[in-house]
Amino acid sequence: MTTTLNHTHDASVRSWVPTAQAEGCDFPIQNLPMAVFHRTGSREPYRGGIAIGDQVLDLAALASSRQLDGAALDGARACAQSALNDFFALGPRVWRALRHGVFALLEDDAPTEVADAVRACLIPLAEAEFALPARIGDYTDFYTSIDHALNVGRLWKPDDPITPNFQWIPIAYHGRASTIGVSGQRFHRPMGQTMAPGARAPAYGPCARLDYELELGIWIGQGNAAGKQIPLARAEDHIFGLCLLNDWSARDIQFWEMAPLGPFLAKNFATTVSPWIVTLEALAPYRLPWTRPADHPQPLAYLEDEGNRAHGALDIQLEVWLESAKARTAGNAPSRLSSTSFRHQYWSIAQMVAHHTVGGCSLQTGDLFGSGTISGPGPGEAGAIIELTRAGQSPIALADGETRAFLEDGDAVLLRGWCEKPGHARIGFGESRGTVLPALG
Ligand code: MN
Repeated sequence: MTTTLNHTHDASVRSWVPTAQAEGCDFPIQNLPMAVFHRTGSREPYRGGIAIGDQVLDLAALASSRQLDGAALDGARACAQSALNDFFALGPRVWRALRHGVFALLEDDAPTEVADAVRACLIPLAEAEFALPARIGDYTDFYTSIDHALNVGRLWKPDDPITPNFQWIPIAYHGRASTIGVSGQRFHRPMGQTMAPGARAPAYGPCARLDYELELGIWIGQGNAAGKQIPLARAEDHIFGLCLLNDWSARDIQFWEMAPLGPFLAKNFATTVSPWIVTLEALAPYRLPWTRPADHPQPLAYLEDEGNRAHGALDIQLEVWLESAKARTAGNAPSRLSSTSFRHQYWSIAQMVAHHTVGGCSLQTGDLFGSGTISGPGPGEAGAIIELTRAGQSPIALADGETRAFLEDGDAVLLRGWCEKPGHARIGFGESRGTVLPALG
């Protein structure tokens, strides 16, 4: 597991890029997240980049700049493409070499001629637009927050809110990769079948209960051969990093269609990810022990590991914001709907990987997992609007006086995430933003 701290986590190190030290900046030198970008509106090829302050370090340009060598150069060259799959496939040794190589180039004690050469590879973030960071073969969405499962379950079965398998299995369904989009995604409210309470037949029409789900995306770096399980102790070697993920959900369609085989049209119309992937190495300082209350079932042996117990959890702060069309037009700020931490998740990211492969499933480079909706135990910590409004019964107030039971046309949902800890840098995930357009009918 990538949990050992090294000089790239030293909070006292500064970059010669001045904005990397700005208060509240998501991208100090201790972060170095990766994305695929080009200049907005240009015909330039998309290629890999690393965020530093308010700039993107162009890895295609850097690979040609003679500033890197060895495995770091191999890594940068693999990033000079429109998707990071080849880089993911090189594995943890090269991922680490590129991080450490770029860290040395961006440190404020780098020689002037080095800084000058690297400065020529920087492009302002404000001038960049993003593509999906990798070609996604398969997408799996988990269901691993017990508070989310309890909040939703209590709406329908107050006495028996969670299914018996929840505490034994990291539950998931196989989702749809073709409609995953990068932040900025706009999609039409889905059409589908819904069954009103007491009705004798379903109706066809636009979704009336459109929701978001606050999740983390887990990018698979190196896969495994079919039939060859990934043991829990090695699971994180297969994860390149994490992003923000919004699993848009049509609740009325979902509750009619999902018995007995799970979500289908309710989830397959759009999923939005943040462009930036924060590496597991960058996340090392924000690890926490993974725990399971003593009066809960303890994991079966293949989901149990000393390392997972010691540092399997991650303290990632997360927020959901809603920007209505009215607020946007008026120039008003978005409203914060909830905030929580990933530390409360019932299953760890390593357990998700190990469980996914235990039956013989092959993961491939560029596969994406959703963590499942992330809800914490307290009020205001729910990661979906269905929980916050109790299925629409208690609409929530937005900052400018509007209310929401579910999402309306024109609403944009923004996810934000960051880590902070005394003695360590604050590192952020940037933003995932997606906008609801009217149904096409
Ligand atoms: Mn989900």
